[in-house]
Parts: sequence; C-alpha cells; structure tokens
Amino acid sequence: MNESASADQSDTASAGAGAVTMCTRNPKLRAAAWCTECRRAYAGRFLGSREDGRAICYECAELGDIRLLSSEQQAVDPALSGGTRFALVRMVLQPHQTFALSYRGSVMPAVRAGFIATMAGLMFWLMWNQLLRAEEWNEWVARVTRIPAGSELLPWLPWLAIPALAAIRLFAGSVALHIGLRMAGAPDGSFADHTRVMALTSIALFLCAIPSRVGTFAAMVVWISGAMAFLRQQYSFSTLRALAALLPAVFVLSVLPPN
Ligand SMILES: [Zn+2]
Repeated sequence: MNESASADQSDTASAGAGAVTMCTRNPKLRAAAWCTECRRAYAGRFLGSREDGRAICYECAELGDIRLLSSEQQAVDPALSGGTRFALVRMVLQPHQTFALSYRGSVMPAVRAGFIATMAGLMFWLMWNQLLRAEEWNEWVARVTRIPAGSELLPWLPWLAIPALAAIRLFAGSVALHIGLRMAGAPDGSFADHTRVMALTSIALFLCAIPSRVGTFAAMVVWISGAMAFLRQQYSFSTLRALAALLPAVFVLSVLPPN
C-alpha cells in the first residue's frame, strides 16, 4: 500500500518536463542527489560524499558506519567544480544550483575566485568611467584624493587602489551578510560559511564588463538573486525574510564601488 503510494508520488514528480524533485527530509528544499544507500532524494545539506565520491545521506552513513570523505579530502568546492566561467553562467541562470551541494572544506577557493571577480569588476567599472564620463569622473577623483585636477597621477591612482578596494568590499560584504543573516534568525552558519556565500555571489561582478551602469546594475541583481537562492536552499527562508536578511549587505555593497 505504502509502496504503491510512493510509486505514484514519484511518477507525478517525474512527470512533465522541468519537474523538480524535492528533498525527502525537508520538502521545501530542492533535492540535490539521491542517497546511494536508501535511494531517497535529499537536499545537499543532508548529503555527504563516500570515499569513492558517491552521495550518501548522513543518516545512512551513521547507521551503516560508512566512512565519509573528510573536509580536507573534499578538495573541490562544488560551486566552482566547473570553473569560474561556468560558475558565473550558473549564478545568472540557475542560482539555486550554485548552493545545491553542501561543502565543508576550505573557503579559500571561493574567496580566491570572489577576489579575482571583484578586482575584475572594479577594473571594468573604472575603465567604463574613464572612457564614458571622463570629465565628471576625473573631477570626482580629484576631489576625493585632493590631487590637483591636471595631475598626471590622477588617471592611474584609482587602478593602484583596486586590490585594496576588492579586499575591503569582500570583507565588509561578508560581515554585513553575516550580521543580517544572524539578525534574521539563520539557525546555523559560521562567518566562514557566509564569507563563502559572499565570495561566490561576487562572481556576478564579472558582469561589470557590460558598459557603464547597466553592468553594475546587472551584477547587483544577480548578486541578490544568488544570495537569496542560498537563503532559500540552506535556511528555507521565505522571499520576504531573505530580502530582509540581505538588507545590511545590500546597503554596504551599494555604497562601495563598483556601483
Ligand atoms: Zn540514505
């Protein structure tokens, strides 16, 4: 009886193109993979990797005393497994996929990718400003740096500041994100977890290659949609709650370049 009921259910779930399989444990979450022991579908947060790399739910691993890959062995961040270009395309088209698999390894690969993307975003932003609104831009830089407007140094100075600006943006964004999520009641999630989210979503800054304001606006929209995808996936936040949780980070990012 039970079996036929669940067979019916899986039939409906797989019927029609684009049907989404939901997690057995938390039906609000999309399933990332099937456990190779109990054959149930789970969201990434309930799945680990066996030593041969196949997925297994933590319950089966514990019951069967099956060894899991440790975080040091889990060397590749699943969000970056296809390379940075693929990560960007996925962030734009299917942000929920970016955070579908749980990952407990080092955050450094994500931070490195996020730092490079932020530097690239700042370079594009600077380039478009200098090309498209040179006069206005130079006046602004002269005012901020107090260097005389005619100085030869003026066009070069902002380029030298890019690595420091990128580091500040990534760090300040992570802090604001972490504070916002904690205030909105995110149940767990360390500062490192949220730094990883900030870094991965910063890959959106490559979109600043699109000229002028259009690129920076697109990057912000994709950043928000990526961060919201994480919140729905990881903490099952509603859309409204996710937006509220992101407010501090959105504020910090909108006062920092590129904007
Ligand atoms: Zn299982």
